Amino acid sequence: MTNIHNTERKPNDNISDVIARQEFNDLLAHVGHDVEIVAYGKEPYGKEPFANVANVANVAIECMDCFTVIYDRDNPDYHA
Ligand SMILES: [Zn+2]
Repeated sequence: MTNIHNTERKPNDNISDVIARQEFNDLLAHVGHDVEIVAYGKEPYGKEPFANVANVANVAIECMDCFTVIYDRDNPDYHA
């Protein structure tokens, strides 16, 4: 991995600055990568639209190059 990330803490950083810098670096690491948004749930996984949103358990932004979940959210209205 290239060393373009700046994770060094600055003297006046507050917790929001630290989190923002970490999230910025987390995203920056995937620039140029094959990124997809994928839904998981009762219906087949993948790109097909879900007929019923209540059947979607989780949606995730994933990097196919790093095999990493960049960001995801569970559906609060999912019924298993
Ligand atoms: Zn990546």
